[in-house]
Amino acid sequence: MTDCGCEKARAELEEYLHHELQAADATDIREHVENCADCQAELRVGVAITEVVQRACRESAPDELRTLVLQRIRVFQSSHEPA
Ligand SMILES: [Zn+2]
Repeated sequence: MTDCGCEKARAELEEYLHHELQAADATDIREHVENCADCQAELRVGVAITEVVQRACRESAPDELRTLVLQRIRVFQSSHEPA
């Protein structure tokens, strides 16, 4: 097994979360994440955001929660933009 590397894992993390990757690519990402603490943390944040957003959409969230989610996403995105 060859490690696909952090760069590819990060680039495809979002598609991985949304199950939009080809099976082979998804396997690459999963194997990398399992062995990389950094990407694991990244994935956890992504999973948490995805779950909150999905729940918010299902339950038609109160404005307060929606604002909180959007804030979190912005913080997450701004901390991951290249300097
Ligand atoms: Zn990594």
